[in-house]
Amino acid sequence: MEARAALEALAAAAAPLEPGPEARADLLDQVFAHAEDFWSGLSNGPSYRGRDEAFAQRLDPEFPEAGRAPGEALAYLAACVDAPGIATASPRFMGYIPGGGLVHAAIGDFLAAAANKYAGFASAAPGAVRMENALVAWLSEVVGYPATAAGTLTSGGSLANLTAIVAARDARDPQGGGAVYTTPFVHHCVDKALHIAGRSGAPHRRIATDDRHRMCADALAEALARDVAGGVRPWLVVASAGTVDTGAVDPLPEIADLCARHGAWLHVDGAYGGLFMLCPEGREKLAGIERADSLALDPHKTMFLPYGTGAALVRDGQRLKDAFSASAAYLEPLGPSSVGPEPADMSVELTRHFRGLRLWLPLQLAGVGAFRAAQSEKIALARDFHARLSDMAGWDAGPPPDLSVVAFRYLPPRGDADAFNDVLLRRVQEEGRVFLSGTRIGGASYLRCAVLSFRTHLAHIDDALEALQRNAEALLAEQG
Ligand SMILES: *Cc1c(COP(=O)(O)O)cnc(C)c1O
Repeated sequence: MEARAALEALAAAAAPLEPGPEARADLLDQVFAHAEDFWSGLSNGPSYRGRDEAFAQRLDPEFPEAGRAPGEALAYLAACVDAPGIATASPRFMGYIPGGGLVHAAIGDFLAAAANKYAGFASAAPGAVRMENALVAWLSEVVGYPATAAGTLTSGGSLANLTAIVAARDARDPQGGGAVYTTPFVHHCVDKALHIAGRSGAPHRRIATDDRHRMCADALAEALARDVAGGVRPWLVVASAGTVDTGAVDPLPEIADLCARHGAWLHVDGAYGGLFMLCPEGREKLAGIERADSLALDPHKTMFLPYGTGAALVRDGQRLKDAFSASAAYLEPLGPSSVGPEPADMSVELTRHFRGLRLWLPLQLAGVGAFRAAQSEKIALARDFHARLSDMAGWDAGPPPDLSVVAFRYLPPRGDADAFNDVLLRRVQEEGRVFLSGTRIGGASYLRCAVLSFRTHLAHIDDALEALQRNAEALLAEQG
């Protein structure tokens, strides 16, 4: 009896973990009002807010023994988390590689977490696994892969590149010693992936780029021939389908020919650009991507999802399974899968977020055509930004964009151009209207305008050009 009373007391103390229908309705009302305030503030709100006092505040106590009112936690979130820093959901966020954060995807996350389906094995959640496999098949079709392809939804592009590189290692370089070929513009996560895959010591050839920052196929051909002649086996060529720095797309058909000739695995990092295959303008630039042995994609960039969704695709799907399947006595599947591969056999993860729903729901509710149109719009906006900047006196707009990133700089009549552009960038950022970021190309400072949010439209490009010209003129005037 005493034991029963003690258990009842514990259950009563744990009751706040399960709010009843009325409390749930009240909580959801407050949460949706919070989200609505956030969404409706985006069109005129800042794209950046510096680290003022607010972000460092804490609730007191920070982790209370008894729960606090939802309003208190939500107010804290609004002031101290949502507000400070870069507003990545803003239409005027054009720094780094934007994503956006679709409303439908946020709701997909909410519903996935509410049901908490276990999407690792079909026997646990056949519908969820079927959905993830259908999404992988759809992504494969978008990039032009055959039915032999397999893939996995990852947490992002870094994990997608790592997954593919591990599959490439097991398939073509199990003993090590094979050489790796990349340009200086390859994303740094590829170096990280090589390190994690135990191949940081592999002979690594940095292949030269042309005046549009794309891999020189001739230079790759020479490097491959030199290695073969010297008894070094070409293992892995990593090409970029849209570099972070300039959005440049390497010459994929020529690279694929060279890889085929020398038996090298072609991995294409399409984390930023690969999914532009959805729109005709992108398909024109990305021709040949379907010849890659593996591909990294990032729907949290090019499909505008909230952070946490990448995808690795491998053309010969068995290679992915060979690298990642494992078994354990405590995990005997409840029966065979009739809905395609088991996600847990294709991934470094076992238990994972059911991340398919955040991609599936927007595709259902907005439709594929809306994504296609948004992507065509992003490419057109970047071309428009580049064309107009090219006509403005004093600016070096750089080469026309392959996709939706423009790297450019101001050319001041005198003084240090790098210092000028660094200060210019900081001023534009601190103003908080338009958020751009920078990079260095050949040691020189450049600014970047990356158009990728579904919320970014022509008026925001106008804002960006206006902010750049006004700040450049002010800076020139100050310098006399
Ligand atoms: C963003 C990006 C990555 C890394 O992806 P994360 O999602 O940030 O992990 C890799 N390569 C390219 C080209 C990218 O744009």
